[in-house]
Amino acid sequence: MQGWYSQGRYNLTSNGTYSITRSYLVIIGHRPQMRTADLVWTAMAIPKHRFMVWLAIQGRLLTQERKQKLHIQVDDTDCFLCEEKVMETNVHLFETCKWTEIVWQGITQWT
Ligand SMILES: [Zn+2]
Repeated sequence: MQGWYSQGRYNLTSNGTYSITRSYLVIIGHRPQMRTADLVWTAMAIPKHRFMVWLAIQGRLLTQERKQKLHIQVDDTDCFLCEEKVMETNVHLFETCKWTEIVWQGITQWT
């Protein structure tokens, strides 16, 4: 915690005001930021996968939940990938779906 508070005084900005943002940034220190786009738009993945991951991150995959929000006729909202009777949502597909879990286990074993 150096630079923003020393000898009982706050260091002020060049125009003489106190900056809480500047103090906060000094407290948390330098943290390298990784942009989500850099992870998605990598040459390691084929374009189709890049696009699907990008849609998933943006919450714009056309899941049954999203179809309902867009007022698109949906006959069955249950997930098509697993036997559970839960609505197909972005969170379900990538976090709680049993089928996805099996796929992740396969990928983990493969790598
Ligand atoms: Zn599922």
